[in-house]
Amino acid sequence: MPAMKISFLGTGSGTSTNRAHTAMVYDCDDGTRLLVDTSSGNSVARNGSELGIPVASYDQVLLSHHHPDHMSGLMFVQFVRALERQDAPPLDVYLTEEPLEWAIKMCNASHLNVATVNQDGAMNSDGRQVMRWNVVTPGQQINLGPTTTASCFPADHISGAVGWRVESGGLAVVFSGDTRYNPQLIEAAKGAQLLIHEAFRTEVDKELAKLHGHATAADAGRSATQAGAAELVLTHLDSSFHADFQPLIDEAKEHYDGPVSVASDLLQVTVSSP
Ligand SMILES: [Zn+2]
Ligand SMILES: [Zn+2]
Repeated sequence: MPAMKISFLGTGSGTSTNRAHTAMVYDCDDGTRLLVDTSSGNSVARNGSELGIPVASYDQVLLSHHHPDHMSGLMFVQFVRALERQDAPPLDVYLTEEPLEWAIKMCNASHLNVATVNQDGAMNSDGRQVMRWNVVTPGQQINLGPTTTASCFPADHISGAVGWRVESGGLAVVFSGDTRYNPQLIEAAKGAQLLIHEAFRTEVDKELAKLHGHATAADAGRSATQAGAAELVLTHLDSSFHADFQPLIDEAKEHYDGPVSVASDLLQVTVSSP
């Protein structure tokens, strides 16, 4: 029976203190491993090592947008990977046009294992290409493995932000990215086995959430229902819900009848065909 395992390496929002910033690993049925967002700092390496997922095992990264809590860890991922796998092909990074501009700026600013960077990728001081940019547009299907494909869809957050639908072995897992309530996500998440949706706060703070380009738990629940998703996992939590996230679950359940849970760092979830 086809299955996909999701390992949460970071589940906190940008202002999070007790959780790592957003990153997930998808282990697909055909052996394809995807890193979805890269957190900040060394969280991908640190939390991945707790789960037996070494940085060297990544060949493909999907990015949602250019905020540092989702993208700045990329520099450490490519650095550790290149050190541990001297003969590795470039790390394939899938991103839209605007995050690419910021990725190039980030490379130029940090220079971590990167000597030159251009529109194709990043090279280290030996002239070895350590990253390859793959610019994608919403709706474009990309092939990532024998039975694994992905496509992004626009998120309502900042310019260039997207969410991702990943399909493998007949299973679909959809990640909202950072977004306000998003009809385009609902369309993209139709019939998904799992919807991973950000839930910054509850409806009490809905104006604040909207102002910052984020969703509430109610938005996530509504979206899961409208998409017909089989399961909902909430992530990207604000610090005020780290100690007690039950209000997020309760609120999502008011709008969605399926199983709802809140991700925490190091949580692993397996989805399989019904
Ligand atoms: Zn974020
Ligand atoms: Zn963001």
